[in-house]
Amino acid sequence: MTQRQMTLVEPLPTCKQGHTARHIFDARRAGAGGGHLIECACSQTRKHAEFVDALGEWKRAHRIRTPRPQLQPATNVTQLGLRLKGGRTA
Ligand SMILES: [Zn+2]
Repeated sequence: MTQRQMTLVEPLPTCKQGHTARHIFDARRAGAGGGHLIECACSQTRKHAEFVDALGEWKRAHRIRTPRPQLQPATNVTQLGLRLKGGRTA
């Protein structure tokens, strides 16, 4: 087997079911079925030439959002579902 589990610098996000994700790198050429993929107990990405592409597919598949640096305080937060007095909905 040429597949092996990679040692990651930073941990992968878990999937929506909470499974630990693993990064698998197949060292064969891309045309021979090699590449990077991410898998957990319930899902698996396709193989990608680059790890970041596999990670991108993983995040899209599980709707994982990576927190972005907060450059400024959020001032445009909209609160939904608030009821006004008298029972009307906003
Ligand atoms: Zn899973």
